[in-house]
Amino acid sequence: MPPGSAPLIDPYARAISYLRVSVTDRCDFRCVYCMAEDMTFLPKAEMLSLEEMDRLCSAFVRMGVRKLRLTGGEPLVRRNVMQLIRNLGRHLKTGALEELTLTTNGSQLTKHAEGLAEAGVKRINVSLDTLDPAKFEKLTRWGKLDVVLDGLQAAKRAGLAVKINAVALKGQNEDEIDRLIEWSGAEGFDLVFIEVMPMGEIGDAARLDQYLPLSLLRARIQQNWTLAETGYRTGGPARYFDVKETGQRLGFITPLTHNFCESCNRVRLTCTGTLYMCLGQDDAADLRSPLRASDDDALLDGAIREAVARKPKGHDFVIDRRHSGPAVPRHMSVTGG
Ligand code: SAM
Ligand code: SF4
Repeated sequence: MPPGSAPLIDPYARAISYLRVSVTDRCDFRCVYCMAEDMTFLPKAEMLSLEEMDRLCSAFVRMGVRKLRLTGGEPLVRRNVMQLIRNLGRHLKTGALEELTLTTNGSQLTKHAEGLAEAGVKRINVSLDTLDPAKFEKLTRWGKLDVVLDGLQAAKRAGLAVKINAVALKGQNEDEIDRLIEWSGAEGFDLVFIEVMPMGEIGDAARLDQYLPLSLLRARIQQNWTLAETGYRTGGPARYFDVKETGQRLGFITPLTHNFCESCNRVRLTCTGTLYMCLGQDDAADLRSPLRASDDDALLDGAIREAVARKPKGHDFVIDRRHSGPAVPRHMSVTGG
């Protein structure tokens, strides 16, 4: 085995094979469950350059990471991000990386879908919680539904497989669940519902008002749709079913009603080079200092291994009357979900 390439194994014997990278915490939307309208972002001066991000990602790939997901904030609003994506594509060509993908709000896909496919991206996650233009504007505060729908068509034309992520929001999109399943099925997209997670202060919107347990949602869906259990996994926490009527998959990500930490294979890097070992815990490691301290990767490798050695067993998200504040102070946009 080449030096520095021993796999990353955490204290609970979980191999770290998946790195999520938030390339910017900035965004062209202000979704009500994700951000406050008036956000303070990480200082620009502290952000890693795209070259530094490449070096960090490549170190993880050398240590056995097989799947890289770029996220944000909105990854496609970071200047020259396509250059980073094209460069990272070299690890697909050597076979070191199995998958390079991203999670996006879809606003820039018309411009970039083709380039993503050319860089070796095969599938993307696009977040879309509603098909109602007025509701979309209300939920995203700054977004336009038709721009995202055009972006989705561009992704299709470029041959990208699309998975739609929809956060289930009490009283906001629960009446659209059947429509979302039907529409995704007709478009050939898989669909995943996500439980809202208590991350970051979001201003007036209260978590308890947004929280819709997916156990409840699934029971409702099963009244209208035939769901067949499947063992399909994407390396993520979603549990998938085949929807008999549409022929597409439907997934559920349930951090609150069913905690999935025992199979966690991932760590998360922010755009300032901070590594979070768990989405729901505060502990983090600074990788920017060792990265900048030397051109050689020895210090960086040591810091990565030390961080993985303290990956916690799991998160403790709860939303109920006694716990309606954030479980962690940072917003989802810092680590990108
Ligand atoms: N901007 C991109 C997007 O929206 O797809 C990528 C980053 S966004 C933070 C990643 C995912 O996290 C999106 O699917 C979004 O809906 C979800 N998300 C944001 N805040 C959340 C929260 N508090 N609970 C659950 N999911 C959340
Ligand atoms: Fe932006 Fe994505 Fe957060 Fe919405 S969910 S505000 S699109 S980062």
